[in-house]
Parts: sequence; structure tokens; C-alpha cells
Amino acid sequence: MALPSRVKYLVIGAGVHGLSTAWHLARELRAHGRGSGADVLVLDKTGIAAGASGIACGVVRNNYFQPAMRELMAVCVQVWESDAQAFSYHPVGYMQISPEVMHDGVATIARQQKEIGYTSTFIEGAKDSERYMKGLFSDWQAKGITSVLHEKKGGYANNRRSMQGLARKAESEGVAILAPTKVTGFQFGHNTGAVQAVETDRGTIAVDHVIVGVGPWVPQVWRMLELPESVTVRGRDGRTHHGVPMWTYWCLEEGTLGVDPAIHRTNDGLPPPVIHVDTDAPLHSDVDGSLVTDKLWGIYYKPDFCFDGVQGGAMPYKVEKKALDVAVDPYGPESPEFVVGDGFVNMWCSALAFCQKRFQGQIAKYRHEPSGGIGAFTPDSFPVFDRFRDNVYVIADSNHGYKMIGVGKLVAEEIMGRPSRILEPFRFSRYAQGKLHPVSTSPFPWS
Ligand SMILES: Cc1cc2nc3c(=O)[nH]c(=O)nc-3n(C[C@H](O)[C@H](O)[C@H](O)COP(=O)(O)OP(=O)(O)OC[C@H]3O[C@@H](n4cnc5c(N)ncnc54)[C@H](O)[C@@H]3O)c2cc1C
Repeated sequence: MALPSRVKYLVIGAGVHGLSTAWHLARELRAHGRGSGADVLVLDKTGIAAGASGIACGVVRNNYFQPAMRELMAVCVQVWESDAQAFSYHPVGYMQISPEVMHDGVATIARQQKEIGYTSTFIEGAKDSERYMKGLFSDWQAKGITSVLHEKKGGYANNRRSMQGLARKAESEGVAILAPTKVTGFQFGHNTGAVQAVETDRGTIAVDHVIVGVGPWVPQVWRMLELPESVTVRGRDGRTHHGVPMWTYWCLEEGTLGVDPAIHRTNDGLPPPVIHVDTDAPLHSDVDGSLVTDKLWGIYYKPDFCFDGVQGGAMPYKVEKKALDVAVDPYGPESPEFVVGDGFVNMWCSALAFCQKRFQGQIAKYRHEPSGGIGAFTPDSFPVFDRFRDNVYVIADSNHGYKMIGVGKLVAEEIMGRPSRILEPFRFSRYAQGKLHPVSTSPFPWS
């Protein structure tokens, strides 16, 4: 397809946010007699699922300490459930298994899940937690656990398949996806500052609206839009912090234990929920018994037939470089810099063995292929969903986002003129106003 000279809605990025927004926008336009998918064009510099959405572990959960995140996730889970087959979605549930230091926070989550009608079971106390876990997995042996939150909804989806499913939905509404086409700049109006045209490596397109869903590449596109590279944040400590970098990269560490995924089933032989364990019990190597860590740590895992093993990850680490100095390309497993190393393999496999006896002595089966990838985080590590320059909508999920398939629905509604109460807590202005989200005691920057 040739590059058109003009389009009403130009979406940059064919990941979860770009595709979901394009699909929902097309539906909105048709439903309200204001156009169709033919008014929407998606550009991607590489192709569908070429970014974080195509390598994500794919966990879908509601468990967030921040009420605004939970409300948003409930909408997202509804979208996943709307066509599990097309999205390659497995609604097996999700478990947050926690130490005492996180007990109160998770109890609050459980209480609020009841209030919003999100089905979950909450178990408290070391003995009852152990009994509950052994009822699911007879070989359960994790230490230092005093609460279990078992979400009955959520689960996981297969990353690339779900993106192909989303793309098909958008295309069936008449949306065109043009790749490879790289956005290289913007032309702004003299009076308004709105984007009038988008420059690409295949030519220039005049536009009415732009939607940016470029995941880890957001610092680059943010700069092209001439948006601030540092911000003022009124902190939780009541002080004003100037010059806080808008973007910071973290590297997510994930991998696959190459066992038969069928070995990880419940006592009843069913596919298990996604397991997320945090604990402050010391972790020793499953290889030689040496201490791996005596600090709070966490892992998550699930059997996955697409990865052909038990797949999951551990805590990410911060990339200690200015965002614009970080080499995002080549991305993911192709990166020479940001793939997991032996430290991760020893930690994650030892942690699996710490949790369930069936994983003891299995580290040799770890699949030594490049995995993991980086993500761009905002100043408070929560998403920014907002309008800039009048006609640009930026979706920057701060790496919470594979599960957020419903954000595109809410963004499409906003573009059509129906503001979303659920997206309101994620505006850029919250930094200057000090309207930050509460933070949990979890060892992950995204809980
Ligand atoms: C290893 C890893 C595991 C993760 N696991 C999970 C998980 O289990 N659950 C979860 O909820 N989240 C997870 N995440 C986070 C999640 O993957 C991201 O938050 C989400 O996929 C971001 O989606 P996106 O659509 O914004 O960006 P992406 O999926 O990265 O898509 C952006 C697209 O933009 C294109 N692009 C970039 N720049 C340009 C340009 N200039 N012109 C044209 N196109 C451009 C890219 O080619 C890319 O295809 C994980 C992330 C990583 C890295």
C-alpha cells in the first residue's frame, strides 16, 4: 500500500496500545456515523508486535496497590474476556503470594476488589496460606508467606498471537497497517502548535489527529514532539523536586525453564493460575546452596506452551544511563546489551525450586536463548495517558501495559469526545499537582 497524503487518525506503533486504539476508534467512528476504519492508519517502523507487546510474558492481573490501576485493569480484563480465542487469552487466574511486610497492602487490595466486584479469595496467616497453597500444589514449599490473594479472573495471553488477533480485528474494521514505515518527525502549525503533518521515511502525511503508542521508543518520539525531557514533581514527601527525568529505562528479566509445561499443573490436573511470589525469606542457590539474596525478592511464572516450558521472570533492574543515550534498537532478544545473564538464571531457577519441589534440580533445563527487554518508565513509574499539542494523544504505559488492552477503548472514547473518569488519574499534570499514586512495599516498580 502506498503512503496516503492525508489521514484523519494516524496511529504510531502496532503494539497493544496502537492496535487496540485503532480497532476501537474504527468501531466508534462506524457506530456514531462519523466515519470508519478507513479513516485510521497505523504505522510501525518494523511490524506488528515488534516491540514490548511481542516479547511480554503476557501476565494479565488486577492485583495493584493503586485503586486507579485496579479500576483500569478491570476494564482491560473485560476486553480480554470479550474474545479469549482471538486474543489467545487463558483465563486461569492469578495469585499474589506475599510476606508479612506486604500483608496490609494486599489486604486492602482484596477489600477493594470486593467493592468493584472483581472475584478473588484472600487467605491470611502463615498456616492457612500454606494449607491453601498445598491444596493447589502438593509440593508447595515456599517460606515466609503470610497471605495469598487468589484472583479468579485474569491469567495470561500469548504475546504475538494476541497482537495478531488485535490486528485482524482492526483490519476487519477497515484499518490499514503500514509497515515498515518509520516516523521521523512532526510538522507543527504556526499558530496552534498542533501537529499538521507527520514525516516518515516514506514521505509526509497530513493528519487531523495523532495517537502515539510506541512503548520503549517513547523518549524518542517525545523529543520529536518537543515535550519536556525533565519535569517538576510535587513529591509524596510534600517537597517540590525540579529537573526529574521524564523517562528512565528498566530492564525486565524473563526466561524459560525448558521442562514439559504439562508438569506444572494443579493437584486436580488443571492449568494453574499465574503464580507471583514475593518473600523476605533468604534465597539460596539450588545448585550449591550459596546465598542468592536475603533482601525482599519476587518472581512470577506460568506453564506456557508457546514458550514451550515454564516461563516467567524476576525483579527488573534500572538502566543507569540518560534515556536518550540508551540503545533501544536492536530491541528485545536481538539486543546485545539487554538480555538476561547467568545471575538471573541462578536466581529465578533457585526461586522456582524454593516455591515448588518439582522444580528442584532442574536448572540444567533452563533454555539459554536471549530473553528480556527494556521499558521506559515515567517519573512515578505509572502510566501517562494524555493529550499534548491539541491533537496528539500519547499512551505511555510505563511498562504496565501488555495487560492494558482496554486502554485503547477508553482512549478512542476520549478522542470521540467522551472523557474517561478511569483515565483521569493518569494525566501528565499530576506531577506538577502532586496527585501521585500511592506506592506499595512490593519489590517490583509496577505493583
Ligand atoms: C520482557 C518484558 C516482559 C513484559 N511482561 C509483561 C506482562 O507480563 N504483562 C504486562 O502487562 N506487561 C508486560 N510488559 C510490559 C508491556 O509489554 C508493555 O508495557 C506494552 O507491551 C507496551 O505496549 P505499546 O503498544 O505501548 O508498545 P510496543 O508493544 O513496544 O509497540 C510499540 C511499537 O512502536 C513501533 N515504533 C517505535 N518507534 C516508532 C517510530 N518512530 N515510527 C513507527 N513505529 C515506531 C515499534 O516498532 C513497536 O512495534 C513486559 C515488557 C517487557 C519488556
